[in-house]
Amino acid sequence: MATELRNWLDRHAPPMMEPLVDIGANLADRSFFHDLDAVLKRAWDAGLQWIVVTGSDRQSNERAFVQARKHPQRLYATAGLHPHHAEDWGTGIAAQIRELSRQPEVVAIGECGLDYFRDLSPRPIQRAAFGAQLELAVSAALPVFLHQRDAHQDFVAILREYHPHLKECVVHCFTGDKDALADYLSLDCYIGITGWICDERRGLSLQKSVREIPPDRLLIESDAPYLLPRGMRPRPKDRRNEPAFLPWVAQSVAEAREESYPELAAQTTRNAASFFRRWNDPNSSLREQPFREYGRHNNEGD
Ligand SMILES: [Zn+2]
Repeated sequence: MATELRNWLDRHAPPMMEPLVDIGANLADRSFFHDLDAVLKRAWDAGLQWIVVTGSDRQSNERAFVQARKHPQRLYATAGLHPHHAEDWGTGIAAQIRELSRQPEVVAIGECGLDYFRDLSPRPIQRAAFGAQLELAVSAALPVFLHQRDAHQDFVAILREYHPHLKECVVHCFTGDKDALADYLSLDCYIGITGWICDERRGLSLQKSVREIPPDRLLIESDAPYLLPRGMRPRPKDRRNEPAFLPWVAQSVAEAREESYPELAAQTTRNAASFFRRWNDPNSSLREQPFREYGRHNNEGD
């Protein structure tokens, strides 16, 4: 299977290999349990510099952190509670996130936010868990990795409340229109674009709004194992998305913005470094270190 996929990648990868950063991959998901090393090898071979592993509940927070610790300067982690699991909010998970936020491998709080599309947790509880995590991000002085679906008004209202005290924010998997984008930009948010943009039907309005994102606010992410870029032919048999497929996202974003692929890759890679380093406490040499190392590991493989 590994060789098969490698051959497939060789045949279908975009022609140019440029350094990229995946700011959101759910590598703690069980679909990666059996072959994470091979998945990472393919990611580095595809030009990825580093990957931020998304934490979304107690188990994935722990796993993401362990993965990041095992792959220094290559994997980083977030710690948070996804709105789907908001009902699990309480002192236990809050203490875990707080504890993880002190580790140098943990570079953001999240994913957190509101999801009224699936409504898996009651809305008032979602709002409370979201607010509590923003508060935690403020006290930890970490950026936040945000999730929003069908909850724009409430989401923006809560974010606005904390905005003056927050570090950087990224609205991950942005799929909205120009108005939603304007709201996020007014709150200084970065915008994370996934393979959603590769969808020839669902991605149409996104292909328009992505042009309005200022160059220094743009980030890209795989959201693996979800959101396999639709343009990929043939599709991997298991339909699992992985960070090695991020070049397809980058290419679609570059096309939509009428920019060159290398330009887009360089810009988003710079933005990722700047987004995740801004929270750096100048007094903490520990937190500074991963980013001092950044750039020395190009093409190093793993
Ligand atoms: Zn999400």
